[in-house]
Amino acid sequence: MKFDDLVIDAENNTDGKVVVMPDGRVMTEATITLSPDGEAMMKQGYLCGNCLQDFAKIGLGAFPEECPVCHFRVRELQAEQLRRQDVGEAHLGSRLTLSDELERLGDMWLPGDDI
Ligand SMILES: [Zn+2]
Repeated sequence: MKFDDLVIDAENNTDGKVVVMPDGRVMTEATITLSPDGEAMMKQGYLCGNCLQDFAKIGLGAFPEECPVCHFRVRELQAEQLRRQDVGEAHLGSRLTLSDELERLGDMWLPGDDI
């Protein structure tokens, strides 16, 4: 199965939109939209929840202890990750989506406060 069959849309923000983390790190946000096939493979543990490596393709079974590509601890973290988020839209590069981040910042966010 080709990567293109698994991922419907991979969008990297190249228009300068970034997410500023509470500790001051600036991260760009990438949104990956999985196809139904890709989503099923992710749920069955055959697809890395962090870098989307196809484990079967590199001779591994479902939920390997660690992804050999990005060292994501699949067995330990992926089931937890799947419980917490809708894997139909996995957000990579940032733990939070931009809207979640803005919501969490709450009263620190000053709309219309022009510099
Ligand atoms: Zn990985």
